[in-house]
Amino acid sequence: MDRVIIGLEIHAQLRTDAKLFCECSAKYRDIEPNTNLCPTCTSQPGGKPMSINGRALENLEKLAIALGAKFEPSFYFMRKHYFYPDLPSNYQRTSTPIASDGMLRNVRIRELHLEEDPGRYELRNGEVDLNRSGVPLVEIVTDPDMRSPEEARLFLQELQAINDYIDSVREEPGSMKIDANVSLAGGNRVEIKNINSFKGVVSALTYEITRQSNLLRNQKTVAMETRHYSEKQGITMSLRKKETSEDYRYVPDPDMLGYDVDGQEVEKLRKGMPELPAMKVKRFVAKFGIKEDDAEVIAGERALADFFEGYAKAKKFDCVKLAQWLRGDLKKQLNYRNLAFGCSKVDRKTMELLLEKYFSGKLTDRTMEQILIAMLDGKFESSMLGQEKISDTGYLEEIANKVIGQETKAAGDYRKGEEKAINFLAGKVMKESRGRGDIRVVLEILKKKLGMGTD
Ligand SMILES: [Zn+2]
Repeated sequence: MDRVIIGLEIHAQLRTDAKLFCECSAKYRDIEPNTNLCPTCTSQPGGKPMSINGRALENLEKLAIALGAKFEPSFYFMRKHYFYPDLPSNYQRTSTPIASDGMLRNVRIRELHLEEDPGRYELRNGEVDLNRSGVPLVEIVTDPDMRSPEEARLFLQELQAINDYIDSVREEPGSMKIDANVSLAGGNRVEIKNINSFKGVVSALTYEITRQSNLLRNQKTVAMETRHYSEKQGITMSLRKKETSEDYRYVPDPDMLGYDVDGQEVEKLRKGMPELPAMKVKRFVAKFGIKEDDAEVIAGERALADFFEGYAKAKKFDCVKLAQWLRGDLKKQLNYRNLAFGCSKVDRKTMELLLEKYFSGKLTDRTMEQILIAMLDGKFESSMLGQEKISDTGYLEEIANKVIGQETKAAGDYRKGEEKAINFLAGKVMKESRGRGDIRVVLEILKKKLGMGTD
């Protein structure tokens, strides 16, 4: 495999009520186009920028602290010029680095900037909506330290987990855009623009690595260019020759003063930082003796981590088993629904009852799963908690007799020494008991009944 070099630029909308340089609302979705604007965010004559939104800067600073970046003493805004219908001023304001030299998952964070989002331009009908124009963005630039699409995914996942703890950036679909730089040893650097999901990043990178690798193998040149990723087709397409920073004619914005980074404010934020996922993983492993990869999944979401820790501290359940169940069974159902634990319809009290029954062996795996699914889908009824595991031999024997009577071939196979046939019969008994039969009792009964003359 050729040596792969990947770097990312992440643009995320900072969590604020207002835009970056005016008092218009930062909510731009589900409202009439071009109603959330003013002379400032549409660059009309006389519409000069106000002072920057303090909350936007604060959220960027929290993120910079979490990424271990060092703050610059001051910063100012540059105008990045380009023409596009969603940008009435023909330039985007982007700050010089506010913090730099951080680290996450062994990926160096080069710098963090503050920027304004442009409006939206609909290519199909030429309509422009400027409601989004001026919404505050953070741009996070990494060094090219990732070596595979999977590493890029893990990096982004950790970044998302951090944000779940500090709540700096918005998490609605489309509020994050990622540009990925990718090159192979001996080839030029290609930039893939505007990918808007983690899944998209992985598939765009995978496609691009294969494309570049094929070119190099056939002694062709990988052009230095900017490519667009089509989510629908899962491929990248050439957009234009890679632009350089000169192309954007960056100039300091004469409308705006420079800003000092308030060191005291930063220290206050640093003191108020919660324990972050990486620290939590270490502590969970040391304190509760759970496996590191279980801890990583659990600490990946603050609500789930709090849930686990609450029970782990109370010593209500076996920590290791609880961690395994949360990371395995629960996460599987949540991921399937693309749902965060904190947003799920899981009622804590019911969950506790359920876990008590499950860990004390009163519910089968299957029943536990069925009840969990009902809970997540909002179809839970309290009567479901009564579906305890059936160890009642009389009841299970009755079912076993019926199954043996119907499945004469499997029963015969087992009698002839084909041990696996018993699993098939046990499966039938479990199905008849609607998943509630105690599998150990079922197997005992079947063995006894099919055993040599014991019945
Ligand atoms: Zn405005």
